[in-house]
Amino acid sequence: MNTHTGNKKRILTGDNATGRLHIGHYVGSLENRVKLQEEYDTFIIIADMHAFAYPKYVGNPEAIADAVLQVAIDNLAVGLDPNKSVIFAESAVPEIYELSTIFSMLVSHNRALRNPTLKEEIKVKEMGDNYSLGFINFPILQVADILSVRADLVPVGEDQLPHVELTAEIAKRFNSIYGEFFTEPKPLVGRVKRLVGLDGAAKMTKTLGNTIYLGEDEKSLKQKIMSMYTDPTRIHPTDPGNVEGNPVFIYHDAFNPDKEEVAELKDRYKKGAVGDVEVKEKLFIVLKDILMPIREKRAYYETHIDEVKDILNRGVITTRDEASETLDKVKSLMKLDKFRI
Ligand code: ATP
Ligand code: MG
Repeated sequence: MNTHTGNKKRILTGDNATGRLHIGHYVGSLENRVKLQEEYDTFIIIADMHAFAYPKYVGNPEAIADAVLQVAIDNLAVGLDPNKSVIFAESAVPEIYELSTIFSMLVSHNRALRNPTLKEEIKVKEMGDNYSLGFINFPILQVADILSVRADLVPVGEDQLPHVELTAEIAKRFNSIYGEFFTEPKPLVGRVKRLVGLDGAAKMTKTLGNTIYLGEDEKSLKQKIMSMYTDPTRIHPTDPGNVEGNPVFIYHDAFNPDKEEVAELKDRYKKGAVGDVEVKEKLFIVLKDILMPIREKRAYYETHIDEVKDILNRGVITTRDEASETLDKVKSLMKLDKFRI
């Protein structure tokens, strides 16, 4: 059973159901989820309705449905405890859609368009002008996710900050018009705000495939690391290399617990006294140590899929209880509760 006391502050965060999770999610948000699940009542949303906002996924419901289970498994595998945290699929909580319609009335069209993350995604994911109205509404649906359980804190990567800011704005506007009800939630960014991709792109993103997955097997982990983008100007191991902005060193900084080793490697790299291969092999060992236990836990849940489905079903029950309480209060404050059958 979930031990939700009602006395603790709340977290809501989660992931799009657009594929398995990667090490960018880990440092951006998952670590904080695991660390804070004792202190906060934690709700993890798997945003399967949001996934339909992407042109790549709208015609592929099977991929989204499969991603729901895979993302649930990833969250469990890194240490989210289903007896402490609630994990649920967005699509199963219809109260969220009602709230989303209501919140869309509280934000101007121009304000909704003024969102740097949406603009960036249109560009990076090469959507051109082929995005849906639902994509523009993406942040407002997210506002509804967060406010449905009246969350206080939202652990996210840096790219999500504009959406959390919009949430606080809408909460404030709601309170000022209809009466004090929502707390304005705050973001909590992970220790790495935005992990770069294997290809050196500004962000590791599951829809671009420049990722190291949490469930990566040893062979593909090695292969991905060995073919990683490094310093393109360096041809021989004896050439002095660039450490700044070099993804291999960014990953060492993010994941290697042996800070002395990292400092020494950087020093040798800058002097042209170490080859890319050695730096990459050391990174492989570091990531293997982190990922293999996660992979083992993943394997458990993959062979106990009914357990995962049961966790998701229980998550929906708990979340719907909270979301319907929120919706009732919202409707009452808006005088929308007068004509119910
Ligand atoms: P998509 O391309 O489908 O948007 P994504 O890789 O961006 O996939 P999301 O599900 O949108 O993943 O993100 C889930 C959470 O992980 C968010 O809080 C997001 O900020 C964080 N996150 C995702 N990628 C990174 C990254 N590269 N570095 C840090 N945090 C990240
Ligand atoms: Mg994203």
